[in-house]
Amino acid sequence: MVRGISLFSGGLDSMLAVCMLREQGIAMEAVVFRSPFFDIRQARKSAAHIDVKLHVLDFTQDILGLVRCPPHGFGGAMNPCIDCHAAMIRRAGEFMRAHGYDFVSTGEVLNQRPMSQNRKSLDVVAESSGLTGYLLRPLSAQLLDPTVPETDGRVDRSRLGSVSGRNRQAQLELVRRYGITEFPSPAGGCLLTEKGYCRKLRDLFDHTDGLPDVADVELMKFSRQFRLPEGGRIIVGRNRTDNQALKAQAARGRMILHTVNVPGPTAAVVGSAGLTEGDIRLTAGILASYGDRGTLTEVTVRVHPASDAPYEITVAPLERNTYTQWML
Ligand code: SF4
Repeated sequence: MVRGISLFSGGLDSMLAVCMLREQGIAMEAVVFRSPFFDIRQARKSAAHIDVKLHVLDFTQDILGLVRCPPHGFGGAMNPCIDCHAAMIRRAGEFMRAHGYDFVSTGEVLNQRPMSQNRKSLDVVAESSGLTGYLLRPLSAQLLDPTVPETDGRVDRSRLGSVSGRNRQAQLELVRRYGITEFPSPAGGCLLTEKGYCRKLRDLFDHTDGLPDVADVELMKFSRQFRLPEGGRIIVGRNRTDNQALKAQAARGRMILHTVNVPGPTAAVVGSAGLTEGDIRLTAGILASYGDRGTLTEVTVRVHPASDAPYEITVAPLERNTYTQWML
């Protein structure tokens, strides 16, 4: 029996690639790469919808290394798509060899994305992943060079697609053909393409030697963040859910601060170095400013250092235009 393993983001094209190969009797399974930047819940949902077995591989260290130094550069934000794609395909290739699949497939469509899916990029990806000849793009296969499984007859090339470009008409016809009733809209799902998120991530990389700690990278998803004048980096909760999550960071050895005598936000410190005395007072002033302090002119803030006992300080709220300049 011919067996294929398909890269599977959970987007429509990745679903169609599996269905198209399965239509000719090939036993297909799928693989998704988990990282702090890519939410795999859609992949799980789409895999369940088309009833394909989904393997989850951790990709965190691979993608952090590529964000630090992408050989083929970034897309519109901090997305090293060409290298990321090649690395995922290389990992899928290792998985293919280890588990006896006949080829790796993807849902890539020729010329769908100007940067990462033109013919040259598809060739670069195949070459740098070391999978030339065993990397099948079934949706556009008839427009590309035949792969080894097509040449030796394990895959019937005449039953593969010739889809090209951004028009989704051909995909929608395949949706009907394969009875797919649920699929996500084409929009991304990768945080590395979001400019607001990448501002915070860029700051983290710029202030870290080597690769940042994964726990710090996970914190970049919080929206209200500051780089303070003495170098400290803090996250300030926006709502109860944020504050609870940031408070829970104390149990993981992270410095946190919160207001005591008025309702107010919690702050967590990014990195293990903690804060200088100056940055602690500024953080307390920011928390006091966001706090619900009524007519109080001073607010008490409890500081929980990473390893020492907690203590309290009392500060005046900082003026908003003093700290907005530190916002990321
Ligand atoms: S969008 Fe994100 S996950 Fe997809 S190839 Fe680009 S960097 Fe990788």
